[in-house]
Amino acid sequence: MSKTKNILGTLFSKPIHIALFSAILSLFTIVGYNIPLLRGVAESTEEGANGIIILCSIAIIIFAVHLLLIYLLIYFGRVAGKIIIAISLLFNSLALYFINSYEVLITSEMMGNVFNTRYSEASGYFSLSGILYFTLLGIVPCVWLFKTKIDYGRLKQMGITALASLGAILLVGVANLSNTLWIDRNVPHLGSIILPWSYTVNTVRYYNSWKRLNQKEILLPDATINNNNKEVCVVIIGESARSKNFSLYGYERTTNPLMAQDSVVALPAESAATYTTAGVKAIIDHQPTNKLYEILPNYLYRNGVDVIWRTNNWGEPPLHIANIEKVATLKERYPNADERYDGILTEGLAERIKSSDKNKVFVVLHTSTSHGPTYYKKYPAEFEKFTPVCTTVEMAEADHQELINAYDNTILYTDYLVHTVIEQLRTLDEWRATMIFVSDHGESLGENNLYMHGMPKSMAPAEQFDIPFIVWHSDSERTIKNIECAEQYHVFHTTLRSLSIESEIYNPEYDIFNNTNN
Ligand SMILES: [Zn+2]
Repeated sequence: MSKTKNILGTLFSKPIHIALFSAILSLFTIVGYNIPLLRGVAESTEEGANGIIILCSIAIIIFAVHLLLIYLLIYFGRVAGKIIIAISLLFNSLALYFINSYEVLITSEMMGNVFNTRYSEASGYFSLSGILYFTLLGIVPCVWLFKTKIDYGRLKQMGITALASLGAILLVGVANLSNTLWIDRNVPHLGSIILPWSYTVNTVRYYNSWKRLNQKEILLPDATINNNNKEVCVVIIGESARSKNFSLYGYERTTNPLMAQDSVVALPAESAATYTTAGVKAIIDHQPTNKLYEILPNYLYRNGVDVIWRTNNWGEPPLHIANIEKVATLKERYPNADERYDGILTEGLAERIKSSDKNKVFVVLHTSTSHGPTYYKKYPAEFEKFTPVCTTVEMAEADHQELINAYDNTILYTDYLVHTVIEQLRTLDEWRATMIFVSDHGESLGENNLYMHGMPKSMAPAEQFDIPFIVWHSDSERTIKNIECAEQYHVFHTTLRSLSIESEIYNPEYDIFNNTNN
C-alpha cells in the first residue's frame, strides 16, 4: 500500500515540462476519443498510399492543433486553463459513449436534441458502460490533469512550440491540396464525430439558430370563419413513426389491425427533416421556412377557434394559446388514466369537443410512442404482441429482430391510439370531423448500422424521413386527392379547409381534399 503510494507520490511530485504534458494530452485526445473518426477516415479512403497519407495527415493535424491549444491554455490560463480542458475531457467521454453506442452524429440538430431533452428522457440512454466511459475516459484523465505538477518553461519555448505546431498544420495542409475533393465530400460526416470540436462548434451553431427561432413570430394575414357549422380537426403528431412498419403502407406484419377497419386513407409522405423540432414545426407551418411565422395553433386561436394542445412530448415552437394540457394536467382530470402511455392524451376527447363554446375546434395530440431507445417501455403490456423484445438501451448491441419487435409493438399501440380518436369522433353526430395522423420524422432500426434519427436529411436513409400521413374524415361527400408524396405542410392548409376558414394564406395545392368538394 505504502509502496503504491510512494510510486504515485513520485509520479505526481516530479514536475513535467509543459511541452511534454501537452503532447501526452494531445496524444490521448487521438487515442482516447478519436478512434471513431480515424476509423471513419480509413473507411472513406481508398486502400493504398494516398489513404495512408490522408489518415496520417488527419492524425498529425489533430495532434498539432491540440498541442498548440493545450499549451496556450495552460501557459496563459494556469488553473483556469486546466478547468477548461477538464470540462472538455468529461464531455468527450460522454460524446464518445453516444457515438459508439448509438452511432449518432453530433450535428447542431443533435445538440438541439441534447439541450431539449428532459432528465426523464435522458436517463433512458444511460447504462453501466456509459458510467464506465465517463469514469475511465473522463474522470481518470481529469485526476491526472489536476494532480500533475507542471514546469511552465520559458516564454521563448512557448513561442517555438506554437510556431512548430502551426508550421506542421500548414505543411500537412499544403501536402493535401490534391485531396480537396475527398475533404469536401467527407468533412460533413467526419466533422460531426471529431472530439471535442463536433459538440463545441455545433453548440454554438445550435445556439445561433435557437436565438433566431426565439424571435417574435411573423403574424399571418387575419382569417375569417366562413360559417357556423360545427367542425373539428384533430391532428395526432406521431414520434419517430416510420411508414415502413405500418401494414397500411404494405408492411407484412399486421401492425394496423384497427385502422385497417376504419376506412382511413394512408398517403405516401416524407418529413421535412429527421429530428423532432424541425418535424413538428413543419407540421404546423404554412410553408417551408427557417423563419418563425405564426404557427397553426396560434393562428387559429387568434382568429377565434377553440384550440387544445395535449402533449406528452416537446420541441414545438412557442405556443400562444389558452389550453395547453400536459400529462400531469390530464392525470388530475382523469385520475384513472395511465400516465405512462400516450393513451392519456385521448381521454374524454369527445366530451371536451362537445362541450366547447365554439363551433370550430382544433386539437393537437403530440404523442411520444415510438421514441427510442426504450421502445419496450412505451406501450401497455397487452400490446406486446411481437416477442421477444429488446430491453437494452445500447442499440448496436441489441438483437436486430428483438429491436424490430419492440418497435412494431409501438406501432401496434399507435394503431390503437388513432383508432380510439376516430371512435370518439364518430360519436359526434352534429360535427363534421377530420383526423390526421402524421409523424415528425422516421427512424433507423439498424439498417446500414444506423439507429434512431437525426442524420442531416441530405445524407439520411429513407427510413428516417418516410413517414405515415393517415387521414380519416366523417364527410362522405369529400374526397381525397391522389397525392404522390404528401408533405407535413399539407396539415396547415387541410386544417383551414376542414374548419371552413378563409384566409389569404390558404394554398389549395397543399390541401389534401379535392378542390371541387364542399
Ligand atoms: Zn421526434
